[in-house]
Amino acid sequence: MVVTPAFLDRGRPDVPDLVVPAGVTPFHLAGRPVRGRLVRLGRLAEALLSRHDNPPAVSALGGKALALVAALSTALKFQGSFSLQIKGDGPLGLLLADCTDTGSLRFYARGDAEALDTLLADHPEPTDRELTGAGYLALTVDQGPDMDRHQGIVEISGDTLAAMATHYFETSEQHACRIMLAARQTPEGWRAGALILERIAATGGTVDGVVNGDVGEALDELGEDAWDTAVVLARTLTDDELLDDALPPEMVLHRLFHEEDLKIGQSRALAYGCRCSRAKLTDVLERFPEDDLDHMAEDGQITMKCEFCNIDFRFARGEVGRHLA
Ligand SMILES: [Zn+2]
Repeated sequence: MVVTPAFLDRGRPDVPDLVVPAGVTPFHLAGRPVRGRLVRLGRLAEALLSRHDNPPAVSALGGKALALVAALSTALKFQGSFSLQIKGDGPLGLLLADCTDTGSLRFYARGDAEALDTLLADHPEPTDRELTGAGYLALTVDQGPDMDRHQGIVEISGDTLAAMATHYFETSEQHACRIMLAARQTPEGWRAGALILERIAATGGTVDGVVNGDVGEALDELGEDAWDTAVVLARTLTDDELLDDALPPEMVLHRLFHEEDLKIGQSRALAYGCRCSRAKLTDVLERFPEDDLDHMAEDGQITMKCEFCNIDFRFARGEVGRHLA
């Protein structure tokens, strides 16, 4: 099998070539057991969400999902993709957002159009939970076919995606976190953002296990206070501040944590990043038996859709198959 390198692949669809340089800004509070990330999708939210013909309520949930995967994936060391999948029995049966280790984002959602219309007629601004219904939320790190996939799954719990994700961390991870998500349509188009706080092991604490007894407890208590303070400060962040492109990330963080010995790390870029291409889809088609390919063909053409880009790729039936041994 010949694999066409991405940069030589002329069969890629015409998708936005868009990079947001300061998409994710990591930070920590020195001497306190607190770290976090601020995510601003900027114009990327519009580029990703407007490809799909979804009702605004679904796009808003999609925007929050994208901000969430960007925030969570940048806390991990991995090569491949980090994905959020929500499957429920509500009008929006499936939502998928993922982010690669290089910050490439993509998203799609699939629902029952009629059920969505009914819900939106009754509740023009439904909760995330009303969209998804009951089901589960899965976070997966996929590092390619030769590596183990790491997946965590929890039941959908709470009214908002932020609450669902927080429940995930309370259930499957051993540390506290606070997640704030926002997405909405602005005069400049869709915008989405996230602020995530994580409680980490106390800094300067148990070096070589020396600290114990009263000293350990005192440090725990100090850590608890510092964490509570950070959470209270984070809650003062408004959706307007989170989504305003004119406010640089450093300024948002400074407003919140300037009295908490804020240390801001190097921002990371986010980009529009579907990996679909004619070459990849050809590989997929080549795996089907000739009979199946014949069935897929209509008027001599096979159509494959990239759900993320919402683009149809068309292949002449004679282009695929037939050259297998
Ligand atoms: Zn695509």
